[in-house]
Amino acid sequence: MNWNRSSEAFAQAKPLMPGGVNSPVRAFNSVGRDPVYFDKGEGSRLWDLDGNEYIDYILSWGPLIHGHADKQVIDAIKETAEKGTSFGAPHVTETKLAELIIDRVPSVEVVRMTSSGTEATMSALRLARGYTGRSKILKFEGCYHGHTDSLLIKAGSGVATLGLPDSPGVPDSIASNTLTVPYNDLESLKLAFEKFGDDIAGVIIEPVTGNMGVVRPDPGYLEGIREVTEQYGSLLIFDEVMTGFRVGYNCAQGELGVTPDLTCLGKVIGGGLPAGAFGGRRDIMERIAPEGNIYQAGTLSGNPLAMTAGYETISQLTPESYEYFEKIGRRLEKGLAAAAEKHGIPHWTTRAGSMVGFFFTNEVVRDFETAKTSDLDMFSRYFNLMLENGVSVPPSQFEGLFLSTKHTEADIDKTLEAAEKAFSIMAY
Ligand code: PLP
Repeated sequence: MNWNRSSEAFAQAKPLMPGGVNSPVRAFNSVGRDPVYFDKGEGSRLWDLDGNEYIDYILSWGPLIHGHADKQVIDAIKETAEKGTSFGAPHVTETKLAELIIDRVPSVEVVRMTSSGTEATMSALRLARGYTGRSKILKFEGCYHGHTDSLLIKAGSGVATLGLPDSPGVPDSIASNTLTVPYNDLESLKLAFEKFGDDIAGVIIEPVTGNMGVVRPDPGYLEGIREVTEQYGSLLIFDEVMTGFRVGYNCAQGELGVTPDLTCLGKVIGGGLPAGAFGGRRDIMERIAPEGNIYQAGTLSGNPLAMTAGYETISQLTPESYEYFEKIGRRLEKGLAAAAEKHGIPHWTTRAGSMVGFFFTNEVVRDFETAKTSDLDMFSRYFNLMLENGVSVPPSQFEGLFLSTKHTEADIDKTLEAAEKAFSIMAY
């Protein structure tokens, strides 16, 4: 494989944008090479500028649950675009998508659309603070909730991939209102509440994490958090920007049987166009302007193209879609583990619906500390070997693999062949 055209394109971009990119992990710094510039996608496949073909497990970092250029989504976007791209006024597709979200997501009685996941979490925090009249927020080490100041603290994902400490530019006065405790550690959460409980407006959590890699909550953990938040009158916010419509037909909350007060969504609900949303209990959501006095707005919020793409994406998902994810997800997870085992590669695998996690460690990964035991040099070699063999996995150890309804069993088998080859070289 050669990547000459990608490298030329990157050289042109580098002086024009910080690091040549518009989101840090895209620069491929952690895997020691230039990024790949893609030209075209279809289903589970991507083609780059040099004509190389890949099976894609990034899927635009999660949104493309029906793969690239899904015909139903693209046709609907085209039809909508011909009538105008934005009105800055209410329109019927946003109502259709709101109905669908409310129908599928157990905690959501009322929803407000935004243009990104970051806007959704940022707005949910303001709402939690406005509703409770308290100022502190509690989050978990290794959970990423977008790049808003209050939440860019011990935030996993891109920050961890780049090996950055928490970002300069977040004032201490803001950071001091964010408490962090380890994920999957109920005792630490209880201690934080004993100390600060009456000041905590809300607890925000990825119910299954995707930003320290895929980590599942221990049995009873989310139930425990629900109990503590109720006891202290704090709001429980599930950040389902990544897990929403990926982990189950009724999102992670439906799958795990715990209902938060507020839910943040993004990624899949925009079907590959910029969209996010936050929603929840009616008595809380009523506090949002113009019904209430807590301000939140957006020039392009509820954009007709994004709402169309989101509606056509989610309405195609059925309970059978998730049975299919179980089937191919299990095949991928077990196959990766077996290939690693065969070649003596340290590994920990995990899975939640259409998200598959793979770590280069012999530890049981259950929080950010154990996620960080993964061997990052090994990850970098694996990433590059997979790419050379036509498989595109996220260029970060702290992200999962995403599946789409278009990934076939043959795709999975081809991926496992590539992994087997990569592990055999790495073991040598
Ligand atoms: N929350 C979670 C769980 C995410 O994974 C992300 C993005 O990866 C965000 C929030 C931020 O979403 P966006 O990148 O659309 O602002």
